[in-house]
Amino acid sequence: MIAKIKRGFWIFMGTIWITFLATIMASEKGTGGIGINGFITLIVWIAFMYLMIKVSIVLSNVAFTILVLVLSFTTGSITEKQIQGLVYIGLFCVGLYLVYLYSNYRDKINKKVAEQHKAGITCCPKCASTRIHYVQKREVTDEINYKYDEDGDIVGAIPSTHTEGGYYECDKCGKIFK
Ligand SMILES: [Zn+2]
Repeated sequence: MIAKIKRGFWIFMGTIWITFLATIMASEKGTGGIGINGFITLIVWIAFMYLMIKVSIVLSNVAFTILVLVLSFTTGSITEKQIQGLVYIGLFCVGLYLVYLYSNYRDKINKKVAEQHKAGITCCPKCASTRIHYVQKREVTDEINYKYDEDGDIVGAIPSTHTEGGYYECDKCGKIFK
């Protein structure tokens, strides 16, 4: 369910971008556009939308971006201001792509964790590694408080302690979990 919502979000973002590029293609030269026929642009728009939904969101967006850039440069219809804008948009896209990659990576890990839990295998919830070890519960002494008599001789000792352990530790990423 969440994977579907996520995919929907990325398709939505991709649609905005592809539509934006199509607008540049179809706009008149001199107004920042490439001046390509509106009908041809519509066909291209449909083709890249199809590619995005059926094949790959990233591939479709990157390919269309390259196509529009090449057309802009070869027809000389790109302005200096647009190049500046493209640099900013490019940086934003790189950031967005990293978020996309991380999101996919987390989905994969979460799926693996769920599968291993189902199979009764204990694994790390952060990285799904099965290279884990159990830390036994044990009492750890923090300090010893001595008791003295009136001559200053030690007559007793009360250690103050706390318990540690009773948890798993991942050998791969160091995550501690129950
Ligand atoms: Zn781990």
